[in-house]
Amino acid sequence: MAEKPKLTQVFTNSHYATSFEAESDDEVYDARKEALVKSMLGEIGEDPDREGLRRTPLRVAKAMDFLTSGYSMSAEEIIKKALFAEDVKEMVVVRDIEFYSMCEHHMLPFFGHAHVGYLPDGKVVGLSKIARVVDVFARRLQVQERLTSQVADALMEHLGAHGVAVVMEASHTCMMMRGVQKQRSSTVSSAMRGTFETDPRTRSEFMSFIKG
Ligand code: ZN
Repeated sequence: MAEKPKLTQVFTNSHYATSFEAESDDEVYDARKEALVKSMLGEIGEDPDREGLRRTPLRVAKAMDFLTSGYSMSAEEIIKKALFAEDVKEMVVVRDIEFYSMCEHHMLPFFGHAHVGYLPDGKVVGLSKIARVVDVFARRLQVQERLTSQVADALMEHLGAHGVAVVMEASHTCMMMRGVQKQRSSTVSSAMRGTFETDPRTRSEFMSFIKG
């Protein structure tokens, strides 16, 4: 991919801006993806060559790459780089981790918050890494239930914890904008591993943390 300077400001009234924009119209980011988006625009009855849509295939291709960048990220790498020995026995809870994903049925966004807890077994991980692990699996085509258990399984496997708990609450735009059009509904999913699965007290301690 050719590296082009990023256009961060548009000076609409100058002659310079006009020539700069005309040049950036020729920018190619991913020819195949852009062609697919362009034909999709035609299929829905749009004119892909009208001014407002001319750069849309390029923008959609870039956005799609970002929104699915989780496929090329490794939860194991993220966790192992930030794992350190610490004699902590208490539960660690990270609440309200914002996430954005896309449903695999409609390729429409679903988004919400994740709450993650774990019971360390001699090792703790940098807290920001837990949020990054959520992104590794959120930035793919997903169903919320699988996303939840993938986050739990990855943490359980690479953290060497006594247990891991993940609760996710999300709004699905495919339900809000189409289908049943229920704007206010939200979906809650949970995955409990290790002590969170076997010990009801551990589980309810976690649930009380994420409610408070
Ligand atoms: Zn959907």
